Amino acid sequence: MDVIGDLVWLQDARGLCLDANPAFERLTATKRVRIIGQPLDKVLGPAWTAALWQPDWSKLQSGEICSHESRLTIESVPCLYEITHIPQRDRDGELVRVQSLARDITQHHQRIEQSLHDSRRQLADVIDFLPDALLAIDRDKRVIIWNKAIAKITGIPPEVMLGQGDYAYTVPFYGERRPQLMDLVFMPDAELERRYASVTREGDTFTAEGFCNALHDGRGAWILARVAPLRDAAGQVVGAIEIIRDITERKQADEALRRSEEVLALFIRHSPIYAYIKEVTPTQSRVLQASDNFERMIGIRGSDMAGRCMDELFPPEFAAKISADDWRVVSSGELLTLEEDLDGRHYTSLKFPIVQGGRTLLAGYTIDITEHKRLEEDLRQLTRLDPLTQLFNRRYFFTRADQEYQRFRRYHHPMALCMIDIDHFKQVNDQYGHLIGDTVLCAVAQTLHDNLRQVDILARYGGEEFVILLPETDRQTARASAERLRVAVAKRRIETPSGPVSVTLSLGVVAVDDGPAMTLERLLDAADQMLYRAKQAGRDRVEIRDLGRPLESGGC
Ligand code: GH3
Ligand code: MG
Ligand code: MG
Repeated sequence: MDVIGDLVWLQDARGLCLDANPAFERLTATKRVRIIGQPLDKVLGPAWTAALWQPDWSKLQSGEICSHESRLTIESVPCLYEITHIPQRDRDGELVRVQSLARDITQHHQRIEQSLHDSRRQLADVIDFLPDALLAIDRDKRVIIWNKAIAKITGIPPEVMLGQGDYAYTVPFYGERRPQLMDLVFMPDAELERRYASVTREGDTFTAEGFCNALHDGRGAWILARVAPLRDAAGQVVGAIEIIRDITERKQADEALRRSEEVLALFIRHSPIYAYIKEVTPTQSRVLQASDNFERMIGIRGSDMAGRCMDELFPPEFAAKISADDWRVVSSGELLTLEEDLDGRHYTSLKFPIVQGGRTLLAGYTIDITEHKRLEEDLRQLTRLDPLTQLFNRRYFFTRADQEYQRFRRYHHPMALCMIDIDHFKQVNDQYGHLIGDTVLCAVAQTLHDNLRQVDILARYGGEEFVILLPETDRQTARASAERLRVAVAKRRIETPSGPVSVTLSLGVVAVDDGPAMTLERLLDAADQMLYRAKQAGRDRVEIRDLGRPLESGGC
């Protein structure tokens, strides 16, 4: 066919042929000489003429080129020709000739058709491949796109939905035929916008979230839909396209998060401990939520603290310290525990970072432990003391004596240890009863305590026995101290409900200085032996031994 080439011929303003090229002659199988001076239809017949000659005289007269396409069957092959009529005018603008050109565009056209077909096919594949549901309608609101994803969420296959009009596509979503978001493209309508939880418009694209009650077998689903107009080459709206995403899970997660934040806010507000959530920057900490009981600590209810910074709530230095601590927690992501004093009360705090709505915030609580501390101290004292005499008990004596003994070993200072036993105490009990015995025991304890130094460690060793560790005390001083105690008790008339009672003490003392290494147990043992010796020697006396030296005795 291409050997034929383009047909070219010339006609005058009345349509009579003036000339024709060889390609014209060959294709129409008509000699040039037969054509000249004749109208085309006379030589070629009506079919050829209709195909080749479609002049718009008014256009041609105004100098405009006219073109059209014609289908011709040449040697039994259907062909497509593009025919162009080019007007030629004289100086006065009068149309004098028309030059015509017929070009075979069959192959060109086929290539375009093929590539159009290919791109349609690819587009269809892309549309089907999209994970989001996609549909499009034409101007008559007939469905022209219904992809696999939308078929899946609605349960309606493309072959059923394609071509359907009259809002058939809204039935699987809403259970009824009704206008929806896509209609906004054709007719912006405030009423339609109101039907959606939120419609936002960006240019001619609409985005909305909505609940579709008919989806998922009537269980309903939240969707996010985005709609845009489809336009033709001239920019005219010829349809609308909508992309739909099922956001039910995200909505449910949002809802669960919202609920848990509400619960947390309630928990914080009514917490019996001082609880809070703060927003923290390097320079300041701002309260978002706080428990109402802060009123007790700083005189402001938690609900009134929201939005306030630390320096609006606490003294400046304390506020600066809190802010620095808060930033440390948020920037390091680590937990912080600390104890603080404010207005004479003692608090313990725990602070840790939490992520809420994509932001890192600080959560924490503070507990007033003032009473707890007091109780703890009381308990500590109680566990150290003998309940009857209020002296240290035997266990605590060993704790303190051990520490003191370590010092003695390290610094080689002198030290003395004294064991004391009340003489014939059984008789006191027998004569006056156990309760009076107790009174006497306490009075003796008090007398001992009053006659000792602060540094001496006095304890009830058991029954009516006492022990004293005298730090920094040499032999002479130890003897003098023991004597002082003996005399003080012996002299005392202890007032009891049964009248005054007097008792005497036996005391065994060991003194040690920079001598050989000893254990506390051996010292106690040695002191006990001296006490025994004092009893043997007649009671109400002091027996002393300087360790490493020969025994010596004294007393009354
Ligand atoms: P000695 O001079 O040999 O020490 O004679 P003693 O009677 O004191 O004999 P011993 O030390 O063996 O007896 C101690 C007595 O002290 C026995 C016990 O009834 C009494 N006793 C021990 N603890 C208490 C107490 O807490 N209260 C009272 N009332 N008596 C106690
Ligand atoms: Mg005894
Ligand atoms: Mg005794």
